[in-house]
Amino acid sequence: MKKKSLGDGKAVFLDRDGVINEILFFEDAGVLETPFHPRHFRLLPKAARAIRKLNKAGFPVFVVSNQPGVGMGHFSLRTLAAIDAKMKAMLARKGARLDGIFYCFHHPQKGKGKYKKICLCRKPKSGLLDQAAKAHRVDLKKSYLVGDSIFDIQAGLGRGLTTILLGRHKCDVCALLARKGIKPHEVAGDLYEAVDLILAHLSPPRRRGSSDFAVSIIKKSLDSRFRGNDKQTE
Ligand SMILES: [Mg+2]
Ligand SMILES: [Zn+2]
Repeated sequence: MKKKSLGDGKAVFLDRDGVINEILFFEDAGVLETPFHPRHFRLLPKAARAIRKLNKAGFPVFVVSNQPGVGMGHFSLRTLAAIDAKMKAMLARKGARLDGIFYCFHHPQKGKGKYKKICLCRKPKSGLLDQAAKAHRVDLKKSYLVGDSIFDIQAGLGRGLTTILLGRHKCDVCALLARKGIKPHEVAGDLYEAVDLILAHLSPPRRRGSSDFAVSIIKKSLDSRFRGNDKQTE
């Protein structure tokens, strides 16, 4: 497989759960969970195609993911390795490749033993990005991050990356983000859409006002929420 490099340190960082693979929903408990067995691991539609597109464009692609389930004893490192192997195999079948995977296993309260720790790698901190940058000579400020949570966006903004938030139908968390002053550069429906935004961002003419796009969605979401509140209090 030929490996083309952009040569200027640009890379794309992807959160894993909810970006590459499906998040599990346990109806009984009403909770969303990360896959904790290889048989639970399913790629999201078009995720492999999106990653292949990045590969072809010459971007190194790295996964940066909090997996405190390991630190909390919900599943072992061995299981996680088996999940990684399945993920890589499923991607490879569709001609897609990851250049590195970086996990944080810690949890500040519920971690066991050495994993109970206030670490530097758990997103919203940016330590996982630093690890990848060091190992693969990535220029973080020229790089992109795609994630489906506020923590992902914060980790990316913390190192000056261009950030893309995935929201399924509407931006549920945008009002919260706006209140906290956290603004993703773009909002996309899925990874494939996010990759198209990244590639469009690189090729002139640049999409002007691309960051205004996310802001306008945040505003709309805020407006509708406030309108909703008014109705309730009237
Ligand atoms: Mg996620
Ligand atoms: Zn950590």
